[in-house]
Amino acid sequence: RRALGSLGKSRAKFISAEETTGVTFDDFAGQEYIKRELQEIVRILKNDEEFQDKGIYCPKGVLLHGPPGTGKTLLAKAIAGEAGLPFFAANGTDFVEMFVGVAASRVKDLFASARSFAPSIIFIDEIDAIGSKRGGPDIGGGGAEREQGLLQILTEMDGFKEFTSQVLVIGATNRLDILDPALLRKGRFDKIVRVGLPSKDGRLAILMVHARNKFFRSEKERDALLQEIAELTEDFTGAELQNILNEAGILTARKDLDYIGREELLEALKRQKGTFETGQEDSTEIPEELKLRLAYREAAVAVLACYLPDPFRPFTETDINSITSQPNMRYAETAGRIFARKSDYVNSIVRACAPRVIEEEMFGVNNMCWISAKATLEASRHAEFLILQTGMTAFGKAFYRKHNDLVPNLAAKLEALRDEYMQYAVEKCSSVLREYHSAVETITDILLEKGQIEASEIWDIYKRAPRIPQPTVNP
Ligand code: ADP
Repeated sequence: RRALGSLGKSRAKFISAEETTGVTFDDFAGQEYIKRELQEIVRILKNDEEFQDKGIYCPKGVLLHGPPGTGKTLLAKAIAGEAGLPFFAANGTDFVEMFVGVAASRVKDLFASARSFAPSIIFIDEIDAIGSKRGGPDIGGGGAEREQGLLQILTEMDGFKEFTSQVLVIGATNRLDILDPALLRKGRFDKIVRVGLPSKDGRLAILMVHARNKFFRSEKERDALLQEIAELTEDFTGAELQNILNEAGILTARKDLDYIGREELLEALKRQKGTFETGQEDSTEIPEELKLRLAYREAAVAVLACYLPDPFRPFTETDINSITSQPNMRYAETAGRIFARKSDYVNSIVRACAPRVIEEEMFGVNNMCWISAKATLEASRHAEFLILQTGMTAFGKAFYRKHNDLVPNLAAKLEALRDEYMQYAVEKCSSVLREYHSAVETITDILLEKGQIEASEIWDIYKRAPRIPQPTVNP
């Protein structure tokens, strides 16, 4: 074995190589089943010969897919760490360059480096940048170049047969739908593992992992505080949870305190929710125009919440005291069992459009700002969930996998259906906001005056507001 240091820097700047990652499965919390599945691979990697005698081979490729920040990189490193193998990482976007031939030669470099230290692990993050469908729309440009790179990956993965050149390739993506089906065929990335957002228990477990090196007054207090944070962080990723604890640690140090307390954690949580905060922490410093935009956004969200109420999560209050990329509206804890129907999912898409629709309406399409930026993302996320996870649309559930291959034109079909839902949602949302324009204005005024408004007052205004009839919008 050569020493890793000999990996020429100039030759392969885009590769990051680690002899040992030092990461173990203990560092990943929540979603225990993922670890169990990957642990099996580690066992095979460790006793390869023994397993080979029994005819059990390690998969050549593992694809981790899920939203950013959910721990995909961490898992890849944990596999390497647990198996005690060197780790070679690159990012799919680094392969796609303007110059002809670069993509293919970089892929070759990566595999050659990993092979000279085999058995080893290759990790390709954002593999969709290079591995998206051939012949599809060429969004980022460099289509032919990317295709060469993709072909090279396929060639490399098909190439290593003997045990001595054993290299496990781990890919990560949040766009499984746009990957070229050839990548997912047997003998390539034939193990696909979904890494999703953590549940409440998962969030608590993740917080516990990152609290290991932090100081709390007592274990009992720590557990109670983290439990509270886990409850307040629905939809947060592991990376965001880690940030909360780090931020709380910094706040604690700044205040010269010995232990992280409730106040610091809640403050850190607030900051994490407003990732796109413009730096002003004090509400008095929010510029007037931004206040107006925030007020309109919250008012629109409130009106939609009245018109299409979420049966499982009543809203409680909202304010314009912090600049966040997502609405400030707060909700009661979900109570009882959730029996969401299709209409509930569709309504959530419509509601999610409110910040974007109102901003375009009031300030113009060329004059929108960050505070509505996450709305479209949220809406399309709800639409994708409805289509891919619930099986309640024309798409059907699991329709997208046939044997080992993805259904042809999956991305196009998915996108067409999602567009239909999005188009309906935007139209419906605009229609509701026009019908209840007077309520939107009244709530906006109150927010500007008092900074906040409670559910009871919102309902009152909504019920009494004069309405402007609109043509029907049908799904
Ligand atoms: P991804 O590759 O999915 O974008 P990362 O692995 O880069 O996410 O996650 C960033 C960091 O967030 C990790 O290094 C880890 O500290 C933390 N993290 C994310 N998910 C988890 C988890 N499930 N358990 C513990 N830590 C996590």
